[in-house]
Amino acid sequence: EEPNNSELLDDDLPSTSSPPSIESTNDIPSARQIVSIGSASDAYAFTFHEEELNAILAKIPVGWKVCVVSVVGAFRTGKSFLLSWFLRYLETQCVNRRSSAEGDGRKWYERVQTLNQHEGSFDWRGGTERNTTGMWMWSDPYFLPRNEGEEVAVLLVDTQGMFDHDTTVGLTAAIFGLSTLLSSYQIYNVDKRIQEDNLQQLALFSEYGRMALEAEAKAAGVDKDVQVSKQDAPSTKADTLTAPFQKIEFLVRDWQNFDTEDETDIASMEAEMAAYLGHVLAERAASDLKETRDQIHSCFEEVSCFMMTHPGFAVVKNKYEGDVNKIERLFLSLLDRYCQRVFDTTGSDSSPPRLQPKTVRGRELSAVELGTYIKSYAQMFEQIGAHFPKAETMLEATSKANNTNAVAAGIDAYIQLMNDVAGPQASDYHRPEEMELKHREASERALATFDGMANFGSRKAIQDARKAVLKKIEKDYQVFLSLNDGRNPLLGFETYLLPMVVAFF
Ligand code: GDP
Ligand code: MG
Repeated sequence: EEPNNSELLDDDLPSTSSPPSIESTNDIPSARQIVSIGSASDAYAFTFHEEELNAILAKIPVGWKVCVVSVVGAFRTGKSFLLSWFLRYLETQCVNRRSSAEGDGRKWYERVQTLNQHEGSFDWRGGTERNTTGMWMWSDPYFLPRNEGEEVAVLLVDTQGMFDHDTTVGLTAAIFGLSTLLSSYQIYNVDKRIQEDNLQQLALFSEYGRMALEAEAKAAGVDKDVQVSKQDAPSTKADTLTAPFQKIEFLVRDWQNFDTEDETDIASMEAEMAAYLGHVLAERAASDLKETRDQIHSCFEEVSCFMMTHPGFAVVKNKYEGDVNKIERLFLSLLDRYCQRVFDTTGSDSSPPRLQPKTVRGRELSAVELGTYIKSYAQMFEQIGAHFPKAETMLEATSKANNTNAVAAGIDAYIQLMNDVAGPQASDYHRPEEMELKHREASERALATFDGMANFGSRKAIQDARKAVLKKIEKDYQVFLSLNDGRNPLLGFETYLLPMVVAFF
């Protein structure tokens, strides 16, 4: 069934023109739950908390691009602990809240005396108590420098309750899948080594990506006979179908096998990490192993690996409360290096930035656009719950969000051009013919912008969305016309004075 797009668009249209208002009852920075799993009546219910997400996205300046770092993996493997360290690092790096205590010669992590367990951190805890399941996003974006003068927003996402026994495979897949869909840098936290079942889980969850590829190929209608199969997905249409997801990084915790453990020589440890990943991903003869690896490669632009050593036995004790002095030096050195790697938004002469803004089909998203996608995907999971989504369902969610964003961008393009001519700040009056001409020019610009973006999914939905653009700019045109009329120096003269003047003579 076709989604009724014009109806959806009116409701879903993100507001790009007016800055969203930030009205939070709780302004203390903390992790906000954007997805919760389980309700009183249904342990497998999937609930998306849109208002929490919107409140976070509203803190990102209009038009800025957004990087999303998300950590997934088994329960109690130090994910929230790591994310809390990310916060401490970002606090010292970030342009909007650079700490004043800088320059005393100590490393950023040496200035942290205690890593808080709750306040100001992602809740990490000792003990075996099971946390609630779901997905959390840090309440505040961090702003990092990008290219000259430009900045990007960075959002951190924590997931909880995955892979443990009483979570169904479907729900685990839903959390992993949503994390994959919304992140530009996904960290897959694993204990001690990358195991075959970690790879299989990743392949299963990134099945979403493969389905999206397949559905897109179908929708594009290039060649109905070409089936994009697991094996040839990347090669058959390599020019137009790139991997749908950007980056997956295995983060191995408690690694015990470094040849060198010299904390001043992290570089040779990094060489060992790369060698290890190469070994794990090396083509295997058995065809199911090979398939798993091909699947992963076709879903992610980049697969990488980092390793951390054990943080020290004090850290794993139940009563450990975050005393940084009790953490092993090597762990902290690796942590330092890891933070630099993950939050590398500028790159260097020899390498591109490791952290990139979230893209969908190669296009970098703004906060509003990212919000549209997350909402669309989350609603999809809300509807299907623990069931695996069909390719069509995935495509529909993606194209719905894409159309909504394309409509907003089209209308924006129109308004921008017309604002210069006849917006509230404009001063000159234009003759009706001039206005008509500008309107036509701006309409063309709007449609070109729309067409450039709304290029996949149901034809009918795209057509409906295009009509919504035209309808809205027709309305806006009337507003511009009346604004322009208000500047007519002859207005009033023509209607009242002119007849009098004529009568006088
Ligand atoms: P999460 O469930 O994956 O978010 O795990 P937490 O971050 O809440 O940490 C669970 C426990 O593991 C806490 O007691 C931490 O002190 C401890 N921990 C944190 N990092 C590491 C690590 O790298 N290795 C080990 N063995 N334990 C860790
Ligand atoms: Mg946690």
